[in-house]
Amino acid sequence: MKLSGKTALVTGASSGLGAHFARVLAAEGAAVTCAARRMDRLEALVAEIGGDARAVTLDVTDAGSIGAVFDRPHDIVVNNAGISHDGPALGTSEEDWLRVIDTDLSGVFRVAQAAGRALVSAGRGGSIVNIASILGFRVAGNLSAYAAAKAGVVQLTRSLALEWARHGIRVNALCPGYIETDINRHFFATDAGKALIRRVPQRRLGRMSDLDGPLLLLASEDGAFMTGTEIVVDGGHLVSSL
Ligand code: NAD
Repeated sequence: MKLSGKTALVTGASSGLGAHFARVLAAEGAAVTCAARRMDRLEALVAEIGGDARAVTLDVTDAGSIGAVFDRPHDIVVNNAGISHDGPALGTSEEDWLRVIDTDLSGVFRVAQAAGRALVSAGRGGSIVNIASILGFRVAGNLSAYAAAKAGVVQLTRSLALEWARHGIRVNALCPGYIETDINRHFFATDAGKALIRRVPQRRLGRMSDLDGPLLLLASEDGAFMTGTEIVVDGGHLVSSL
């Protein structure tokens, strides 16, 4: 087991990729703190995982709730919580813009900063994995706030890696392409969704399990000399023909 004796925190663990990441880290021996706003879902996940897993309430837009989660340092932090706003830039309200930036970019900063402070004061190194997206590198219509936030996460990752290497804290980004989850499965069954899948060079959606190896590489000592970098897992979508 790659992560025995390690503690891990996964934000946005109440559904989709976050719940999956919590299961994957726990299966490798980590004691996982599953954090999100919906406690009923987290409790069900923790009961399923068993062992040392615990559930805590966390809203990444609320610095107070983040502080409570870092009553102890976490060796591994997966910054996964995220939302998107789907709509043309001309019609995007300031409120919608700020909501996405506050969750997807500022939320990652708040959690990473709290994680970094806890590790530095404990004199321990650690690994922070920020979940960005291929939309941090290229764009798609009607997702301007989301794409801007994810591009910000990529640069934030590099900046924190530079500052915290001296403390033994590695900071990397995992950048998924389109991964099938409960939330988007319906869309990908539509004609528009199928057309999108045809633009992926491998002609398929990602499966959550496609992220397991890259996540564990970044989270574990296998990635000991990796910091400030990005791993793209997208079936070739970023290199699709222009
Ligand atoms: P999802 O909606 O199932 O998961 C997002 C999670 O974040 C949910 O559990 C939600 O409750 C939580 N969350 C949202 N706002 C929060 C807040 N303020 N505080 C705490 N938790 C909050 O979607 P997902 O597809 O599992 O996405 C997970 C991450 O992966 C996101 O950052 C998303 O941008 C990224 N991502 C997903 C895909 C994909 O194809 N599914 C591709 C690229 C990147």
